[in-house]
Amino acid sequence: MAFDSLRAIFLGEVDVPAEHRDAVGAARRKAFHALAPMAAIHSLLNAVVLTVVFWNEPTMPLVFVWTYTSAVLVFIRMREGKRSETLSDATGEDGRIVRYTLFSGALWGAIIVALMMSSGPEHTLLLGVLTAAILCVGALLNSSFPIASLGYSVLVGGGACLGLALTGHAWSTEAMLLLAGCIMALQRFAANSDANFVRRHLNAAALNDAKETMSVLLNDFEAHSADWLWRTDGHGRIGPASQRFIDASGLPAEVLEGGSLLALFAPESAQQLDFLLKQRKSFRDEVLRVQISGHEGWWSLSGQPTADGGWRGVCSDITRSRDAEARIAYVTEYDGLTDLANRAMLVRQLEVAQEAAELRGEGFALFVIDLDNFKALNDTQGHPAGDAFLKVVAQRLRDCVGPTAFLARLGGDEFAVMQRDMLAEEAGELADVIVDALLAPVHINGKDILAGGSVGVALAPENGTDPAVLMKNAELALYRAKAQGRGCARFFEQGMEEVARVRADLERDLRNALAADAMDVYFQPLVNTRTRKVAGYETLLRWNRPGHGLVSPAVFISCAEETGIIVPLGEWVIRKAIEEASQWRDDVTVAINLSPAQMKNPSIIATVVGALAASQLDPSRLEIEITESVLMDETEQNIRTLHALRELGVKIALDDFGTGYSSLSYLRAFPFDKIKVDQRFVRDIDTSTENQAIVRAIISLARDLKMRITAEGVENEQQAAILAGLGCTEVQGFLYSRPMPASELEKKEPSTRKTADLLHLRRRA
Ligand code: C2E
Ligand code: MG
Ligand code: MG
Repeated sequence: MAFDSLRAIFLGEVDVPAEHRDAVGAARRKAFHALAPMAAIHSLLNAVVLTVVFWNEPTMPLVFVWTYTSAVLVFIRMREGKRSETLSDATGEDGRIVRYTLFSGALWGAIIVALMMSSGPEHTLLLGVLTAAILCVGALLNSSFPIASLGYSVLVGGGACLGLALTGHAWSTEAMLLLAGCIMALQRFAANSDANFVRRHLNAAALNDAKETMSVLLNDFEAHSADWLWRTDGHGRIGPASQRFIDASGLPAEVLEGGSLLALFAPESAQQLDFLLKQRKSFRDEVLRVQISGHEGWWSLSGQPTADGGWRGVCSDITRSRDAEARIAYVTEYDGLTDLANRAMLVRQLEVAQEAAELRGEGFALFVIDLDNFKALNDTQGHPAGDAFLKVVAQRLRDCVGPTAFLARLGGDEFAVMQRDMLAEEAGELADVIVDALLAPVHINGKDILAGGSVGVALAPENGTDPAVLMKNAELALYRAKAQGRGCARFFEQGMEEVARVRADLERDLRNALAADAMDVYFQPLVNTRTRKVAGYETLLRWNRPGHGLVSPAVFISCAEETGIIVPLGEWVIRKAIEEASQWRDDVTVAINLSPAQMKNPSIIATVVGALAASQLDPSRLEIEITESVLMDETEQNIRTLHALRELGVKIALDDFGTGYSSLSYLRAFPFDKIKVDQRFVRDIDTSTENQAIVRAIISLARDLKMRITAEGVENEQQAAILAGLGCTEVQGFLYSRPMPASELEKKEPSTRKTADLLHLRRRA
């Protein structure tokens, strides 16, 4: 233990890992040989001094021998140094050095003993200084080999001590102690210096290793990664560039290298990068827009300052991922078809406006726009036409709302506009402008399609500031606009919520009623004016709604149509009515009302055929009543369906004639079997000559087109007489009978004296 401590103090050996032993050994030898010139100078100086001092002394021959030997040793040391530079096998080299050192030590020791013994006290001082100098220089020159240094010091110091002991000076013992202390201190210095030397060497080797590893990794990185390394000098000029960097820049290597790094980027990115570089702090993943001779892209740059005032770092081309990101961002924020913002973006804008409204009381208006005829167009003309139509509408909206408004497409044919700083009056004006802009027909596929739109307006803060509340309120206003005939604008009013709630209740109850089979069909007779016999019955739907009594379809049909409930409900009516009719006398027809939504449904023909087949009813006894809206909506598809029904033998009647806009053109669109004049014209026929004239015109037109004619809503004899006089073929109304349940048809007949024929009506069964 004590030995180990002493060894550590005086030999200071550092544990050198096996793989570094050769290198450390070589370095030690190199350091040793490097000091050969110093050893030479030291020897020369000693030789000169000793020669001068002992020139006339009897010991001069000894000095001469020593000088000569010492010169040889220096020569050997220098030659060994040269030789070891080119040495391939270093085995035994260390031993040679140690031996050489010990020999020099022994030589010095011997000469000091000899000189001390043979010279007088006048030389003792010089010899003391000489010994100290030899010890010091020796420790310095031999410090790369502590064991050699120790041996050298012991031999030199030992020689001196022996000399001192033999000359027997009064202070020999003290001098010997001083020498021993000096030797220990010098040896400690040599050991320490060697340990430091070895440590330094090992550190350098480790650093070198790390550098090598780094360089391997970097080479690998350059070869296999999509990224590249970059470096600049203190002036921002690009240093040696890898092939990948050159490729990415699209510049020739000679232009890129030495060129300005900032010049690769678009002005705003160059500015951003310049700012970062001036900070002289590391930065990571800075996204910059590259602009190199027309080529554009995005790079992600990381960098760290270097000690020479330049920069180095990694760069990657993120153009593709950024494009994808931009596309995703676009898709999540914009509508790809019209390039307008989407609902999510609108909501965000509304939130911003909400904040301004709540903080500063700034008002804004929200317009929700719904196209009136889009669905029909999309179904009949196909989606490409629908898309083209929406684009035109989007452009029209853009043109009329102006640059300060925020325009969005909410989906389908619904659009929205948000305008900040808008008063109610201005909002009304803008709503009218939008409605007018949508009135002009759109030219698609060689046809002029009527767009038409309804607008609902909600104002903030009057109608709320919360985006969801405002949106709901604007939708309620839109709903009102559509209910009031479309093609108009309505502002939100407080009661609208209640209306919406009532409607939601209606929808719920309607669905329940359909599921619970709580519907019923009633029948109202159509009477032939000439024979005064019942020619047939019109099927009229009735709903015994809990808490509301018997409800007319006028109340719920529009709700059923808008919610699609009409399709299953209508199918049920068809089956039920046909089944009833199959039990009537053979020449009595059954009329069924079909709404546009039912006509659009592709299964309508199958439903009719199925019901006819199931009940074995002659198709010619079935009459389908449609309104002008069916022709207005989806012309081609609906006309095809009508023809298909006609081919089955089913009769087609045009109901509520005169209530549409261009009734006459519809009469030419399809060869109807019958026209039913709307009750509006019948109601005052006995008092209004104008109505009489209208009905007369309709009847003559129908005659020309070989169509039969029925007048609806006949309530008194006078009306019946006038209509009969005008040539009306059939009449229908409360005068003859109110709609009644199937079970009452027979009972009612005898009591109704208005037509002789009712007596004849009998069930087949
Ligand atoms: P609509 O097809 O024009 O039916 C005639 C309407 O006039 C019936 O109203 C009938 O009760 C009423 N009415 C008949 N005679 C008179 C009269 O002398 N005076 C007055 N003031 N009214 C008379 P209702 O039953 O309320 O039906 C309203 C509308 O609902 C029908 O008009 C029809 O368009 C529709 N509808 C009825 N049932 C169905 C159905 O099963 N399917 C479809 N899609 N629509 C139906
Ligand atoms: Mg009808
Ligand atoms: Mg009618």
